Amino acid sequence: MTETALPRVRAEIDLAALRANVRTLRAHAPGAAFMAVVKADGYGHGMVPSARAALDAGATWVGTATPEEALALRAAGVGGRVMCWLWTPGGPWREAIEADVDVSVSGMWALREALAAARAAGRTARVQLKADTGLGRNGCMPADWPELIAAALRAEAEGLLSVTGLWSHFACADEPGHPSIAAQLGVFRDMVAYAEDQGIRPEVRHIANSPAALTLPEAHFDLVRPGIAMYGVSPSPEIGVPQDFGLRPVMTVAASLAHVKHAPAGHGVSYGHHYTTPGETTLGLVPAGYGDGIPRHASGAGPVLVDGKWRTAAGRIAMDQFVVDLGGDEPPVGSEAILFGPGDRGEPTADDWARVAGTIAYEIVTRIGARVPRVYLNE
Ligand SMILES: *Cc1c(COP(=O)(O)O)cnc(C)c1O
Repeated sequence: MTETALPRVRAEIDLAALRANVRTLRAHAPGAAFMAVVKADGYGHGMVPSARAALDAGATWVGTATPEEALALRAAGVGGRVMCWLWTPGGPWREAIEADVDVSVSGMWALREALAAARAAGRTARVQLKADTGLGRNGCMPADWPELIAAALRAEAEGLLSVTGLWSHFACADEPGHPSIAAQLGVFRDMVAYAEDQGIRPEVRHIANSPAALTLPEAHFDLVRPGIAMYGVSPSPEIGVPQDFGLRPVMTVAASLAHVKHAPAGHGVSYGHHYTTPGETTLGLVPAGYGDGIPRHASGAGPVLVDGKWRTAAGRIAMDQFVVDLGGDEPPVGSEAILFGPGDRGEPTADDWARVAGTIAYEIVTRIGARVPRVYLNE
């Protein structure tokens, strides 16, 4: 019994699907290098296994938000080019430079810190300059670009840094036809042209996230940086479902029913009694809750496949558990309850959870918590 028992809850990560998704995305952007974005623990899929699988499938770059993530990749022995972009003052610039990480710089303060670290390390820093072409988040504004470019060229002449990339990020690439897309592309081309006229010779120019990699060939430049699509999740329902692009969801979250019991009509279920059994029925206890990253906003709505049928979270999703009304069925305790997966066994998808929780599928997969063991398939 114990040999075959399923864990309380688990996240199966199909690395064959991840590798196939990388190959599919590369075919969508045949002229461009591929940076696998693995920030936030690989969008919940596990940062190091996701990076390794992507490199196996032809990615040559790995991207993270924070320098700590980049350093963790190197500490795990992940090779290839690694880039990180979310810096704060006093960050581990020297460690990143010594670990051969490409560091992104959006302004003069960051350039100064990178240069000081390069001097201290006695190494040439690989620096990518980020332009704000209209996202309004990180990145150097066009008005400040000449100062940043001039300072970078002076540092290059001193041998302190090499500008390896010029790059930017889209605001609305997941909304096909949004006027900001063409506007950002225009600003990006101008900012790249200015830097190159001044003498910058970047290895890579890049702006394409998943939706741009999938739908905007004119945005591919030298490199594409997909995150969510690599995990087989569509950037937005507006663009399509994963199958439209030949992508397959990588993560399946499933639990083992912790209890199955009969209940009479009128029995209140879970905190607040937001659900009351409409008649005599059976209730199944799903041992996963918001402490595992299952969104409480999906209370009363989150779908689960049990014994071939879709059931719905009855009442509140609690920290560790929620209940489904099994409508009189009596699956044995320990039966598998699939919260979401690729969908081909009839189970819900991360998109289904996103819809009922009022969020995006990115958040559904990324928030699956540390308490949920990852089980790697097809390593
Ligand atoms: C997260 C991120 C990406 C990947 O975005 P997706 O929409 O998941 O493809 C690419 N570039 C940057 C700068 C990011 O922060």
